[in-house]
Parts: sequence; C-alpha cells; structure tokens
Amino acid sequence: SAPAGHDDDVLDRRERVLAEVQEHYYARPPRIERGWREYLVDVDGRVYLDMVNNVASVGHAHPKVAAAASRQLRLLNTNSRFNYGAITEYAEKIAATLPDELDTVFFVNSGSEATDLAIRLAMASTGRPDIVAMREAYHGWTYASDAVSTSIADNPNALGSRPAWVHTVDAANSYRGIHRGDDAAKYAAEAAAVIDRLAAQGRPAGGFICETFFGNAGGVALPEDYLSEVYRTVRAHGGIAIADEVQVGFGRLGEWFWGFQQQGVLPDVVAVAKSIGGGQPIGAVITRKEIADRYRTQGYFFSSTGGSPVSSVIGMAVLDVIQQEQLQENARLVGAHLKARLQELGDRHPIVGTVHGSGLYLGLEFVRDRETLEPAPDETAAICDRLLELGVVMQPTGDFQNVLKIKPPLCVTQESADYFADALERVLSTGW
Ligand code: PMP
Repeated sequence: SAPAGHDDDVLDRRERVLAEVQEHYYARPPRIERGWREYLVDVDGRVYLDMVNNVASVGHAHPKVAAAASRQLRLLNTNSRFNYGAITEYAEKIAATLPDELDTVFFVNSGSEATDLAIRLAMASTGRPDIVAMREAYHGWTYASDAVSTSIADNPNALGSRPAWVHTVDAANSYRGIHRGDDAAKYAAEAAAVIDRLAAQGRPAGGFICETFFGNAGGVALPEDYLSEVYRTVRAHGGIAIADEVQVGFGRLGEWFWGFQQQGVLPDVVAVAKSIGGGQPIGAVITRKEIADRYRTQGYFFSSTGGSPVSSVIGMAVLDVIQQEQLQENARLVGAHLKARLQELGDRHPIVGTVHGSGLYLGLEFVRDRETLEPAPDETAAICDRLLELGVVMQPTGDFQNVLKIKPPLCVTQESADYFADALERVLSTGW
C-alpha cells in the first residue's frame, strides 16, 4: 500500500489522463490537500515546508485573497470588454509600481502569454520580425515565448530548433558561463556585437528579451551594466528592450521590487506573472503608450479572462498584502539570513559550489569539483528527494539541473528558513 500521505490511485489516474509530458514533481509525490502560509499539508496531515513556490507569493490560502475572490465570484465575473471598476483600478495600481514612462497595461493569464505578447509588441511596434534573446532561458510554452526559450533543461535540442527570427546571445552567467568573475564584463560587448551584426546584415532586431536577474540559472545577477549596454545597443538600431520579470519581479529580490532596478535600467516592455496572482492565473504586460498603440497594426487585442473582475480583485488583494505585510522587506531580511546560512554550509561541504541570488530568490549550486565546476545533477536530485523525507519541498533548476531553486512564499519566516537550512545541513552531513 502507499506510504502515509500518498495516494497512488490518484497518481495512476493522473498519469493515465494527463499528457505524460505534463510532469509532476518527484517520482512518487505525496498527495497535497491544503496549504497555509509557506506550508503544505498532505492527506494524512503531514506538514511540508514549501521552499520552491514563487507562485504562492503571499503564502498559501491567504484569507484576504480568499475573501476577495469569493466575494467577487458571487458578484460578477465576466470578460474584460464590459465596463467595471476593478480592471481600471488594478491597472492603475500595477502601473503605479513602475516608473512613470511605463503607463499602459495589458492583462493576460500567464507568464507565457505575457512574454508572447511582449514579443508581439516588439514586432508590431518596430515592424521587424527579428528578436534577440539570451541563451539558457525559459520564457514560456506558447509559440513565440517558446521560440526564445533555449534552456536545454526544457528541450535538449533547443538551440538547434529555433525559428529563423530568433537570434541568441551567450547566457551572462559570471559563475559558470564562458566568461567568469571579472571577465563577465565581456558578455555585454559580445551581445552588443551580435545586435550590431544583425543591423549590418540589414535585419535589425525588433527587440531584445531576457530575465533581468537570471532566474533560470538559479538567481544569478547579470554583470554590472549588462542591461544598460545591451538595451542601448538594441535601441540604437530602433529595437526595444523587453524585461521578463515573471520569476524575479514583484518584491522577491528584497532590495528591489523589479529586477531591472538592480541593473539601473528602464525597459520598454515589462512582462510579469506568477507572483502577481498569488496562484490565480494573472499575467500583465506594461509598456509605454506609443508601443501599446502600435499593436493596432495586428488587429485588436482581446483576452476573455485577462483582467476579469475576479482576477483584478485577486491581483489587487495580492498587491495590498505584499505592501501591508511588508513582504518585500521580509524577502530582504529573511533572504539575507538564509543566504548567509547557505554560504556557511559551503565552508563544510565541498559539494556547495556557490550561493546565487538576492532576497528570496536564491540558488544553491552543487558541483563535483570546485575547480572544474562539474555539475552535480544526480546528487541534486537525490538531495531534493531526501529533503522531502525531512519535510521540505525543493526542486532543481538550471541547464544542468544542479541548482536548488530557493523561492518560497514571500511570507516565509526566519524560523522556517532555519528549518530548511538545518534540514539541508543534515542531508549534506549524513548523505543522500
Ligand atoms: N518567464 C519565466 C522567466 C518563467 O520562469 C516562466 C515560467 N516558469 C514563464 C515566463 C512562463 O510563465 P507561465 O508558466 O505562467 O506561463
């Protein structure tokens, strides 16, 4: 029979009815019945600490979000072409979190839709089909967002199967990329050269897209001035700068509400999702009015449920909770404490290569050798399995699947962060 907290019947049925490619965490995951703050509870009442869930930004089952959702569901939930207050109020609140220039909002239902729309806006506003993207990225599963996603963790043949309009630049990873440490300044110059070359060939790029803080690699900060140089170059040829803030934006970095602030730049288009909905499917694209207006060249824009009354009130409740409960500040404080504890693990355990990240977007990178940086994916998977036994939900990320992606709900307490660090210490000390 299944171990406590598990339900093999529901798992077997899931595997029969859902597309196999739509994977689940763990070979044999527990059956989760409810969530509360940074905790998940299985069917037998066992509690897990959820250290991976950046969608549940304000914590699982937040009462203010639940109350807003249920009230609005009883009142009205319809498509965004009707005139109702919530969509306007929510758009104003989202725009208010951004610099004044970014004043025009589109609402969609996911990160994939948001990055897809951002790319479409770049194409529509410039009239050009070519887009430059950073390698080792994930931007979504829809046609355009997938086209600019070249992480081999997602698709081993990613680079070899891009459509002709996609052009890529090196992943600006100063830890394990081709330029490391101080040499990382070269990434921007090389990316600028790719963009210049396209223009010289008579096909200047319509836009450049990347994560503003390298989330897919585990929260690696881009080299200093990277985005300012690349944005300047793409704009010099008439293209626009797209910031994918789906993972790292919305207060998670602690020090900055948006990832682009860490780089001291202003993008032309910002794509956001995940955190903003706290689990409700909400995505948004925020841009300048003249860029948004150029979408008219493609026809009209309509998303039936994007910015629906229920999504709008949930989005407002999530933003209110982030502000009222000072969750960005919590991300800064608890994140700094946790990062220090993880770095300290590195003093005793040679498998710890480094700790990336800021606030509550951290990446603990496991290597077999600190000189060669040989990735340790099997060890990382085994460590995640062992952590689950100790009551912690954790998953790998990155092209080599050797980085723990540490991105808990923003309400995570220092006590919970310590529980995670203690559990990790135990796994690394006793084997996995
Ligand atoms: N951009 C980034 C950086 C992401 O990490 C993801 C999802 N992992 C997406 C876009 C796509 O978001 P969604 O899954 O909501 O479609």
